Amino acid sequence: MIRCGFCGHEFPEDEGIRSCGKCGKPGGCRMVRCPKCFYENPPEPKSLKTLKKLFEKIK
Ligand SMILES: [Zn+2]
Repeated sequence: MIRCGFCGHEFPEDEGIRSCGKCGKPGGCRMVRCPKCFYENPPEPKSLKTLKKLFEKIK
């Protein structure tokens, strides 16, 4: 679940608006927009942790 940093609305990552592609961030936008207020939230931290764990295993 992602909690919107602006309005506090909680929504599953699937429900958010992903990859807006309009903000021009390098490497493509990975922000997830709140379906209620369209505030850009960073992706779910859990997936980041999983990624970090994967990288540690590779090392
Ligand atoms: Zn919001």
